[in-house]
Amino acid sequence: MWPPTLDRVSLPASQPAYARPAPPRRPAPAARTGATPFDPAESSLSRTRRARRMARELALIHPDAHCELDFTNAFELLVATVLSAQTTDKMVNKVTPTLFARYPDAVALAGAEREELETILKPTGFFRAKANSALGLSRALVERFDGEVPGRMADLVTLPGVGRKTANVVLGNAFEVPGLTVDTHFGRLVRRFGWTAEEDPVKVEAEIAELVPKKEWTDFSHRVIFHGRRVCHAKKAACGACGLAKWCPSFGIGPVDPEVALKLVKTPAASDTE
Ligand code: SF4
Repeated sequence: MWPPTLDRVSLPASQPAYARPAPPRRPAPAARTGATPFDPAESSLSRTRRARRMARELALIHPDAHCELDFTNAFELLVATVLSAQTTDKMVNKVTPTLFARYPDAVALAGAEREELETILKPTGFFRAKANSALGLSRALVERFDGEVPGRMADLVTLPGVGRKTANVVLGNAFEVPGLTVDTHFGRLVRRFGWTAEEDPVKVEAEIAELVPKKEWTDFSHRVIFHGRRVCHAKKAACGACGLAKWCPSFGIGPVDPEVALKLVKTPAASDTE
Protein backbone atom coordinates (compact mmCIF):
# COMPACT_ATOMS: atom_id res chain seq x y z
CA MET A 1 0.00 0.00 0.00
CA TRP A 2 1.43 3.38 -1.02
CA PRO A 3 1.76 5.82 0.55
CA PRO A 4 1.93 4.16 3.97
CA THR A 5 -0.54 5.84 6.30
CA LEU A 6 -0.06 6.42 9.98
CA ASP A 7 -3.58 5.51 11.06
CA ARG A 8 -2.93 1.81 10.42
CA VAL A 9 0.21 1.84 12.56
CA SER A 10 -0.29 0.58 16.08
CA LEU A 11 2.44 1.40 18.55
CA PRO A 12 3.05 -1.41 21.05
CA ALA A 13 3.06 -0.22 24.65
CA SER A 14 6.71 -1.32 24.88
CA GLN A 15 7.73 0.84 21.89
CA PRO A 16 10.51 3.21 22.96
CA ALA A 17 9.51 6.89 22.91
CA TYR A 18 12.22 7.65 20.34
CA ALA A 19 10.41 5.56 17.70
CA ARG A 20 8.35 8.13 15.79
CA PRO A 21 6.27 6.94 12.83
CA ALA A 22 7.41 9.19 9.98
CA PRO A 23 4.79 11.12 7.97
CA PRO A 24 4.17 9.54 4.56
CA ARG A 25 6.77 10.70 2.06
CA ARG A 26 8.49 9.24 -0.97
CA PRO A 27 12.15 8.25 -0.47
CA ALA A 28 14.51 11.19 -0.98
CA PRO A 29 16.38 11.40 -4.34
CA ALA A 30 19.71 10.37 -2.76
CA ALA A 31 18.10 7.21 -1.36
CA ARG A 32 16.53 6.39 -4.73
CA THR A 33 19.65 6.99 -6.82
CA GLY A 34 22.44 6.13 -4.40
CA ALA A 35 23.89 9.64 -4.82
CA THR A 36 25.57 11.42 -1.92
CA PRO A 37 23.02 13.09 0.35
CA PHE A 38 25.31 16.13 0.66
CA ASP A 39 24.02 18.87 -1.63
CA PRO A 40 26.80 21.32 -2.51
CA ALA A 41 24.12 23.67 -3.88
CA GLU A 42 22.50 24.02 -0.43
CA SER A 43 23.56 27.37 0.95
CA SER A 44 25.55 27.50 4.14
CA LEU A 45 22.72 29.40 5.84
CA SER A 46 20.13 26.89 4.74
CA ARG A 47 22.29 23.94 5.85
CA THR A 48 22.94 25.58 9.22
CA ARG A 49 19.22 26.21 9.77
CA ARG A 50 18.34 22.66 8.77
CA ALA A 51 21.11 21.27 11.00
CA ARG A 52 19.91 23.28 14.00
CA ARG A 53 16.31 22.20 13.40
CA MET A 54 17.42 18.57 13.30
CA ALA A 55 19.62 19.03 16.38
CA ARG A 56 16.61 20.43 18.29
CA GLU A 57 14.53 17.46 17.20
CA LEU A 58 17.26 15.05 18.29
CA ALA A 59 17.15 16.64 21.75
CA LEU A 60 13.41 15.88 21.89
CA ILE A 61 13.84 12.36 20.54
CA HIS A 62 16.68 11.42 22.91
CA PRO A 63 16.28 13.56 26.06
CA ASP A 64 18.16 10.96 28.11
CA ALA A 65 21.21 10.64 25.83
CA HIS A 66 24.39 10.30 27.86
CA CYS A 67 27.80 8.66 27.89
CA GLU A 68 27.09 4.93 28.08
CA LEU A 69 30.44 4.10 29.68
CA ASP A 70 30.34 3.86 33.49
CA PHE A 71 32.91 6.03 35.31
CA THR A 72 33.37 8.05 38.49
CA ASN A 73 36.32 10.26 37.48
CA ALA A 74 38.39 11.39 34.50
CA PHE A 75 40.93 8.58 34.89
CA GLU A 76 38.24 5.89 34.77
CA LEU A 77 36.59 7.52 31.76
CA LEU A 78 39.87 7.82 29.89
CA VAL A 79 40.78 4.17 30.45
CA ALA A 80 37.22 2.96 29.71
CA THR A 81 37.17 4.91 26.44
CA VAL A 82 40.50 3.43 25.34
CA LEU A 83 39.20 -0.06 26.22
CA SER A 84 36.00 0.51 24.21
CA ALA A 85 37.86 0.18 20.88
CA GLN A 86 36.52 -2.83 18.94
CA THR A 87 33.96 -3.71 21.59
CA THR A 88 30.72 -2.43 23.09
CA ASP A 89 30.30 -0.03 26.00
CA LYS A 90 28.31 -2.73 27.79
CA MET A 91 31.24 -5.12 27.60
CA VAL A 92 33.62 -2.46 28.94
CA ASN A 93 31.18 -1.73 31.78
CA LYS A 94 31.36 -5.40 32.76
CA VAL A 95 35.13 -5.38 33.31
CA THR A 96 35.77 -1.86 34.66
CA PRO A 97 34.33 -2.43 38.19
CA THR A 98 36.93 -5.19 38.74
CA LEU A 99 39.64 -3.22 36.95
CA PHE A 100 39.20 -0.03 38.98
CA ALA A 101 38.70 -1.87 42.28
CA ARG A 102 42.10 -3.45 41.69
CA TYR A 103 43.79 -0.39 40.10
CA PRO A 104 41.98 2.76 41.25
CA ASP A 105 44.38 5.32 39.75
CA ALA A 106 47.15 5.83 37.21
CA VAL A 107 49.91 4.95 39.70
CA ALA A 108 48.27 1.62 40.57
CA LEU A 109 47.54 0.75 36.93
CA ALA A 110 51.03 1.75 35.79
CA GLY A 111 52.42 -0.82 38.25
CA ALA A 112 49.99 -3.59 37.29
CA GLU A 113 51.26 -7.08 36.71
CA ARG A 114 50.63 -7.74 32.99
CA GLU A 115 49.22 -11.26 33.34
CA GLU A 116 46.68 -10.22 35.95
CA LEU A 117 45.68 -7.19 33.87
CA GLU A 118 45.22 -9.31 30.74
CA THR A 119 42.99 -11.72 32.68
CA ILE A 120 40.72 -8.85 33.76
CA LEU A 121 40.58 -7.40 30.23
CA LYS A 122 40.12 -10.71 28.40
CA PRO A 123 36.30 -10.42 27.92
CA THR A 124 36.76 -7.17 25.92
CA GLY A 125 38.77 -8.89 23.16
CA PHE A 126 42.23 -7.87 21.89
CA PHE A 127 43.17 -8.04 25.55
CA ARG A 128 46.95 -8.11 25.02
CA ALA A 129 46.86 -4.92 22.96
CA LYS A 130 44.47 -3.35 25.46
CA ALA A 131 46.69 -4.28 28.39
CA ASN A 132 49.56 -2.60 26.52
CA SER A 133 47.44 0.51 25.96
CA ALA A 134 46.31 0.69 29.59
CA LEU A 135 49.88 0.27 30.87
CA GLY A 136 51.37 2.77 28.39
CA LEU A 137 48.67 5.30 29.09
CA SER A 138 49.00 5.05 32.87
CA ARG A 139 52.78 5.24 32.74
CA ALA A 140 52.60 8.38 30.58
CA LEU A 141 50.12 9.94 33.04
CA VAL A 142 52.46 9.18 35.95
CA GLU A 143 55.64 10.31 34.19
CA ARG A 144 54.32 13.49 32.56
CA PHE A 145 51.18 14.58 34.42
CA ASP A 146 51.75 13.55 38.05
CA GLY A 147 49.24 10.73 37.63
CA GLU A 148 46.41 13.16 36.81
CA VAL A 149 44.39 13.28 33.58
CA PRO A 150 45.06 16.61 31.87
CA GLY A 151 42.01 18.70 30.96
CA ARG A 152 43.37 20.08 27.68
CA MET A 153 43.07 18.64 24.17
CA ALA A 154 46.70 19.55 23.40
CA ASP A 155 47.90 17.40 26.33
CA LEU A 156 45.43 14.55 25.99
CA VAL A 157 46.37 13.77 22.39
CA THR A 158 50.03 13.32 23.41
CA LEU A 159 49.04 10.28 25.49
CA PRO A 160 49.56 6.88 23.84
CA GLY A 161 46.37 5.54 22.27
CA VAL A 162 44.48 8.82 22.72
CA GLY A 163 43.19 10.59 19.61
CA ARG A 164 40.77 13.48 19.25
CA LYS A 165 37.73 11.21 19.61
CA THR A 166 38.83 9.85 22.99
CA ALA A 167 40.04 13.29 24.10
CA ASN A 168 36.65 14.82 23.26
CA VAL A 169 34.83 12.10 25.22
CA VAL A 170 36.98 12.86 28.27
CA LEU A 171 36.83 16.65 27.91
CA GLY A 172 33.08 16.70 27.36
CA ASN A 173 32.07 14.24 30.07
CA ALA A 174 34.70 14.66 32.79
CA PHE A 175 35.77 18.31 32.37
CA GLU A 176 32.63 19.93 30.93
CA VAL A 177 34.64 21.24 28.00
CA PRO A 178 32.37 20.92 24.92
CA GLY A 179 33.55 18.28 22.47
CA LEU A 180 32.26 16.54 19.33
CA THR A 181 32.83 12.79 19.45
CA VAL A 182 33.26 11.62 15.87
CA ASP A 183 32.93 7.86 16.20
CA THR A 184 31.61 5.47 13.55
CA HIS A 185 27.93 6.26 14.34
CA PHE A 186 28.49 10.01 14.38
CA GLY A 187 30.31 10.08 11.05
CA ARG A 188 27.73 7.87 9.35
CA LEU A 189 24.79 9.91 10.59
CA VAL A 190 26.06 13.41 9.82
CA ARG A 191 26.91 12.25 6.30
CA ARG A 192 23.40 10.77 5.95
CA PHE A 193 21.99 14.06 7.25
CA GLY A 194 23.79 15.76 4.33
CA TRP A 195 25.71 17.98 6.73
CA THR A 196 29.13 17.00 5.39
CA ALA A 197 30.65 14.83 2.66
CA GLU A 198 33.93 14.38 4.54
CA GLU A 199 35.12 10.91 5.59
CA ASP A 200 38.10 12.00 7.67
CA PRO A 201 36.97 12.32 11.33
CA VAL A 202 39.04 15.46 11.95
CA LYS A 203 37.48 17.21 8.93
CA VAL A 204 34.00 15.97 9.94
CA GLU A 205 34.54 17.41 13.42
CA ALA A 206 35.60 20.78 11.98
CA GLU A 207 32.59 20.99 9.64
CA ILE A 208 30.01 19.99 12.25
CA ALA A 209 31.56 22.47 14.69
CA GLU A 210 30.43 25.19 12.25
CA LEU A 211 26.83 23.96 12.29
CA VAL A 212 26.11 23.17 15.95
CA PRO A 213 26.52 25.71 18.78
CA LYS A 214 29.62 24.93 20.86
CA LYS A 215 27.81 24.66 24.18
CA GLU A 216 25.74 21.78 22.74
CA TRP A 217 28.59 19.73 21.30
CA THR A 218 28.83 17.11 24.06
CA ASP A 219 25.09 16.44 24.42
CA PHE A 220 24.63 16.63 20.66
CA SER A 221 27.30 13.91 20.23
CA HIS A 222 25.47 11.64 22.70
CA ARG A 223 22.16 12.19 20.89
CA VAL A 224 23.61 11.39 17.48
CA ILE A 225 25.28 8.25 18.82
CA PHE A 226 22.02 7.20 20.56
CA HIS A 227 20.17 7.71 17.28
CA GLY A 228 22.77 5.68 15.39
CA ARG A 229 22.53 2.83 17.87
CA ARG A 230 18.76 2.75 18.15
CA VAL A 231 17.23 4.03 14.90
CA CYS A 232 19.62 4.96 12.06
CA HIS A 233 21.49 1.65 11.88
CA ALA A 234 24.46 1.07 9.57
CA LYS A 235 22.78 -1.77 7.69
CA LYS A 236 19.03 -1.09 7.93
CA ALA A 237 18.06 2.42 8.92
CA ALA A 238 14.56 2.62 10.41
CA CYS A 239 13.57 5.60 8.22
CA GLY A 240 9.83 5.07 8.59
CA ALA A 241 10.15 5.33 12.37
CA CYS A 242 12.59 8.23 12.48
CA GLY A 243 11.75 11.61 13.94
CA LEU A 244 14.29 13.27 11.61
CA ALA A 245 12.67 11.93 8.44
CA LYS A 246 11.20 15.29 7.43
CA TRP A 247 14.61 16.97 7.12
CA CYS A 248 16.82 14.03 6.16
CA PRO A 249 18.05 13.77 2.54
CA SER A 250 18.77 10.05 3.09
CA PHE A 251 15.16 9.22 3.99
CA GLY A 252 14.43 5.95 2.22
CA ILE A 253 17.80 4.21 2.50
CA GLY A 254 15.96 1.95 4.94
CA PRO A 255 12.30 0.88 5.03
CA VAL A 256 9.91 3.87 4.95
CA ASP A 257 6.81 1.93 5.92
CA PRO A 258 6.31 2.81 9.62
CA GLU A 259 5.12 -0.65 10.52
CA VAL A 260 8.19 -2.30 9.01
CA ALA A 261 10.57 0.37 10.34
CA LEU A 262 9.22 0.22 13.89
CA LYS A 263 10.34 -3.39 14.07
CA LEU A 264 13.92 -2.29 13.30
CA VAL A 265 14.12 0.21 16.16
CA LYS A 266 16.29 -1.19 18.93
CA THR A 267 15.46 -0.92 22.61
CA PRO A 268 18.14 0.52 24.91
CA ALA A 269 18.97 -3.01 26.10
CA ALA A 270 19.63 -4.18 22.52
CA SER A 271 21.15 -1.00 21.13
CA ASP A 272 24.82 -1.46 22.02
CA THR A 273 25.59 -4.14 19.51
CA GLU A 274 26.80 -2.23 16.45
S1 SF4 B 1 16.85 6.66 9.89
FE1 SF4 B 1 16.61 7.33 7.73
S2 SF4 B 1 15.50 9.28 7.91
FE2 SF4 B 1 16.34 8.85 9.94
S3 SF4 B 1 18.30 9.90 10.02
FE3 SF4 B 1 18.70 7.80 9.33
S4 SF4 B 1 18.68 7.89 7.10
FE4 SF4 B 1 17.69 9.77 7.85
